[in-house]
Amino acid sequence: CGIIGIASEKLSDRKLAELTVEILRRLEYRGYDSVGMASMSEDRIEVRKAKGSVEEFVKKRSPSTMKGKVFLGHTRWATHGEPSDINAHPHTDCSGEIAVVHNGTILNFAELKNDLIQKGHEFKSETDTEVVAHLIEHYRKLGMDNFTAFKRAILSIEGDHAILVVIKGDPRIFFSKRNNPLKIGVADGMTLISSDSWSMFMVTNKIIPINDEEFGYISARERYIEKFSGERVDTNSRLYTEDT
Ligand code: GLU
Repeated sequence: CGIIGIASEKLSDRKLAELTVEILRRLEYRGYDSVGMASMSEDRIEVRKAKGSVEEFVKKRSPSTMKGKVFLGHTRWATHGEPSDINAHPHTDCSGEIAVVHNGTILNFAELKNDLIQKGHEFKSETDTEVVAHLIEHYRKLGMDNFTAFKRAILSIEGDHAILVVIKGDPRIFFSKRNNPLKIGVADGMTLISSDSWSMFMVTNKIIPINDEEFGYISARERYIEKFSGERVDTNSRLYTEDT
């Protein structure tokens, strides 16, 4: 599947929504059975998603009217839970304040899900992915800040992934990578993060690669990476210009 995240302080909401759709079109080659987007404005996270192609999603859900300066997008290739509107990404926690898109599989999701259900969490989908939103919600309730809660959730899931997360009221997109592709694209007043560089070339070819077992966050101006072991990465030294 393909994932995209964009944080911008320059583009209008509409332009940003349209750019997200355009990048999703370029990620469709990675396989899809469903498509979805999340947008984060100051007071809420909105999710729109549907079974089918990007074109069907655009027709049914009119994503260009979504509001915000931070967007996530996903083209799904189902592994857990049949292709359906509900199983399409992004997935959210109980409060609707956390949205997740995910490429990969979570091998221990059944145990994690049972444990969270015991703690009172209600699940909406049959996917493995949804546990990530609930895990972050759980750790935040214990008093952890957003990045710490995100890292704790990532370190408790097994299997390969590329994951993007937004949390209401926080301008950052949190990301993590283990064996599935994920790259940062750097533009003026805007940062993107996508399954491949090519999908971002209409905006930028300045790329920061992310290695396996690394997580971090981006915002319109910030790009922070650390290793799962906790060691901080010198992000700027990785920046390169890719041939288009
Ligand atoms: N395992 C997740 C699901 O089935 C993500 C699949 C994908 O990479 O698209 O929803």
